[in-house]
Amino acid sequence: MQDQLIQCLTRLVQINSVNPDLSTTGQGEREIAEYIHHHFQLLEIPSEIHTVIDDRCNTTAILAGEDKDRILLLNGHIDTVGVEGMDDPFTLKKVGDRLYGRGTYDMLAGCAIQMGLAKYFFLHPCPITLVFTFVADEENLSIGMEHLVKHFLPALPVKPFLGIFLEPTEEHIGISHKGFAWFEVEIKGLAAHGSRPEQGVNAIFPLSYALKELETINQELATEKPHPFLGHATLHPGLISGGSSQSVIAARAKLNWERRILPGDRQEKLDGELQRVISAVENANGDQKIVGRQIFSRPTNESSDNKLIRKLKQAAGDKDYCGMSYWADSALAAQVGIPSILFGPAGHGAHADDEWVSAESIFKTYEAMKKFILDLGD
Ligand SMILES: [Zn+2]
Repeated sequence: MQDQLIQCLTRLVQINSVNPDLSTTGQGEREIAEYIHHHFQLLEIPSEIHTVIDDRCNTTAILAGEDKDRILLLNGHIDTVGVEGMDDPFTLKKVGDRLYGRGTYDMLAGCAIQMGLAKYFFLHPCPITLVFTFVADEENLSIGMEHLVKHFLPALPVKPFLGIFLEPTEEHIGISHKGFAWFEVEIKGLAAHGSRPEQGVNAIFPLSYALKELETINQELATEKPHPFLGHATLHPGLISGGSSQSVIAARAKLNWERRILPGDRQEKLDGELQRVISAVENANGDQKIVGRQIFSRPTNESSDNKLIRKLKQAAGDKDYCGMSYWADSALAAQVGIPSILFGPAGHGAHADDEWVSAESIFKTYEAMKKFILDLGD
């Protein structure tokens, strides 16, 4: 089976599935969605391709088991980040246990594991019903998962009792991950000749007050009680822009920051932080004006330790629970009432040039998943 999983991953890596909204090398997920669909067709497992928009596609498949009313949702994203700086990103290279290539670790290996499980449970009795899902665009705005949540999941005869997202977790059980929110403030001043600053209002100087306040808030977050799996909430300024020319008093400046959110961080707290930044600029010297808002956010996800999750933990060799610092599509399934966790193989270099996944770990993850599903029949 290990060879079959690697073969499958080799083919998945070969197909360019770079997210076209992140890189000009991206072509969308249609080709990889079709390849996966074809895999299920060969197994005679009912499968569908869902076009989200243009060449952005999801694939789903439903393998009816002995119990049709118990549905386990399996999920993976089929897009990858860009390949700039990589020599031969679409050719899987095996060096010892390491399988190099774009998407091997994040997270085409997880997709190959789903496809391997489909093959196994096509040939062997499955105690429950498996819903396999492969979605577009997780690396950007999750339009694939949003489409799945809106159109596919509600059409299932019963709500899945659990979602397992096969993101890389080093074979640990990822029971929580952070959310995030993006904020933007815009400072407005008045343009003037660089030699006559008294005739204008500089919009860039006040940025220092905004940045100072953000730094203070970030330091405060670091002193709060840490989450047992996720540590501290953080924020960082990610974008800064403004001005029109070196010799002109800047009439405009913009600052964007990202706040990584912990379970339990309330919206009022985030709003309060935004207000502190606004006030810091308003209270500074000068006639500048400032407006600010939250422009986008994604929720956290946290599952409580329960019998079912402990079963997976045992099947995985009693690996520890863990939290993931990154955001994942699992939060969107949790939001519609499907308890969702992350579980996937070990490796290195998500979004980096030297991305690899461990061949042995793919197999161990596959075996753990298989055992977990079989144990659900007990
Ligand atoms: Zn991922």
